[in-house]
Amino acid sequence: MENAFSDRITDVPKSFIREILKVTIDPSIISFAGGLPNRLFFPVKALQQAAHDVFEEAGDEILQYANSEGYLGLRQFIADRYRQQEGLDIPVDDILITTGSQQGLDLLGKTFLNEGNDLIIEEPGYLGAIQAFAMYRPRFHPVTVSEGGMDITALGQVLGERQPKLLYTVTNFQNPSGISYSDENRRAVADLVRGSSCLIIQDDPYGDLRFSGTRKVSFKRILPANTVLLGSFSKTVAPALRLGWLVAPHPIMDKLIIAKQAADLHTDSLAQRILYRYLCDNDLDLHIATIIHQYGKQKEAMIGAIQQFFPPEVRYTNPAGGMFLWVTLPEGMSSMALFEAAIKKKVAFVPGTPFYVDRKDSNTLRLNFSCSDEPTIVEGIKRLGDSIKKLY
Ligand code: PMP
Repeated sequence: MENAFSDRITDVPKSFIREILKVTIDPSIISFAGGLPNRLFFPVKALQQAAHDVFEEAGDEILQYANSEGYLGLRQFIADRYRQQEGLDIPVDDILITTGSQQGLDLLGKTFLNEGNDLIIEEPGYLGAIQAFAMYRPRFHPVTVSEGGMDITALGQVLGERQPKLLYTVTNFQNPSGISYSDENRRAVADLVRGSSCLIIQDDPYGDLRFSGTRKVSFKRILPANTVLLGSFSKTVAPALRLGWLVAPHPIMDKLIIAKQAADLHTDSLAQRILYRYLCDNDLDLHIATIIHQYGKQKEAMIGAIQQFFPPEVRYTNPAGGMFLWVTLPEGMSSMALFEAAIKKKVAFVPGTPFYVDRKDSNTLRLNFSCSDEPTIVEGIKRLGDSIKKLY
């Protein structure tokens, strides 16, 4: 059977996190491994009401096939929100509703990448993006992201030597590191890309989950012709809806719609109508405020516990939003070895390995703070601190 599979599927690694999550099913394990939004904030009743109302009012119409671009009302809502939140004027025709922003990544890969094409990706980077793009067998060029953003020298070098088609970025509260690019860093990235045919993908599922500080400038403002935006309702409403969107200018959108039609004709239009109804009848910003209030407290609890229980040589990011922070152990220490030790103490996290294109063992790890309450976070970090000290 091995010979039956395409090279494409054989080469793409299994989601390492799915494998880890299997270990953490044991309820006695404190897990910082998942990447899930906190289910306490899913608007169950309001979505139930929205679904009821949509069925009552629109009946059989909502069960019919729909257009590939997505429900107009929802696209208009997204356009209005860009105007209110970021002062961006996005024509509705430039917005495509996708089956989660994950599908946006796949459609971009399908639309732009031939085998061997150059693609720049953050390191560490979102493993779902590594997986989605790997299907199209590009040549990955990882560029380091650390506090403040992308390594400008390294980016300049790749752009000087190769002709990358895509530059993938998560500029706000990045998955996995929680890092945000500063305004200066964004402008420096844009200056390097300007004039080239490289397209910046700004994937922003966490941008609305800001606990502190002010919103940073979008690539769409500083380099509109070279920028594609990805957005998602997964972290602000609910991931099960599988509703995200892609913003791209006209000639690109035409091709993306072909890719979209070939993939699934259109995104679940029933889910789109229910979400739209929910958004019309409820205050999304109020809902988001509730989420970030809690995530912010949980993040503070995690930082406080790290300061108390981790050896001082361990470094960590202190994100201003999102769901993750990133820990760097002393040089030479393996986060895979730590994982083995930590599981014995009944605490889990994701080792850094899957977030690097070459999947090397590393001294880094990702901690999720959105899903555990504060006392659990403190206890879990204490156990992790003990495990780290044992490895010295
Ligand atoms: N991009 C990033 C950076 C993510 O972290 C995620 C979800 N973990 C996604 C995209 C995919 O999100 P969704 O498909 O649910 O919109």
